[in-house]
Amino acid sequence: MSRLTVLAGPTAVGKGTVSAFVRGRYPDVWLSVSATTRAPRPGEIDGVHYHFVSQAEFDRMIAGGELLEWAVVHGRNSYGTPVAPVREALAEGKAPLLEIDLQGARQVKETMPEAHFVFLAPPSWEELVRRLIGRGTESAEEQERRLDTARVELAAESEFDTTVVNHDIRKAAEELVSLMGVDPHSAGS
Ligand code: 5GP
Repeated sequence: MSRLTVLAGPTAVGKGTVSAFVRGRYPDVWLSVSATTRAPRPGEIDGVHYHFVSQAEFDRMIAGGELLEWAVVHGRNSYGTPVAPVREALAEGKAPLLEIDLQGARQVKETMPEAHFVFLAPPSWEELVRRLIGRGTESAEEQERRLDTARVELAAESEFDTTVVNHDIRKAAEELVSLMGVDPHSAGS
């Protein structure tokens, strides 16, 4: 039977990059497309990277029980996992992967404790800070806020079944997919 894998970890650890790498290279992994109220970034495609929805639509999804989990991330936008596609993927024997934040991972642990919880960790705290600052996409105030969140999030590692250290995107993705039972050498170019 196929099993759901949940990938979480602190901000700026590279969850998005690792999951984008998996999306591009491993067609055998079924990556969940979250709903979000945040605006698309350049290059992001509705239905591929996220389902971009209004707050009213997001509220309707919550009320309708359509989300497996949901959270307000970094005190700003709402993100959630549509449950129906995840159930379909599991029923079809696919290997579903959810890349979500810690609050969401904890909710999935309540409803689907049989899932595999993988923590993506930075090589060190200093490296995490370097990546967060180096990304240069957030204001100083926002960086401080994200670092505060990251400090708390790093302490949650013990709640997870397995840790993958993100020294290198490709290696972390290979380790993740092999944990999911997908051959890491099955990658496309
Ligand atoms: P970004 O806006 O940079 O794409 O994502 C911000 C954060 O939202 C990341 O930490 C990502 O893991 C988290 N996130 C993305 N989708 C979901 C979701 O469906 N549920 C939850 N709980 N968090 C999500």
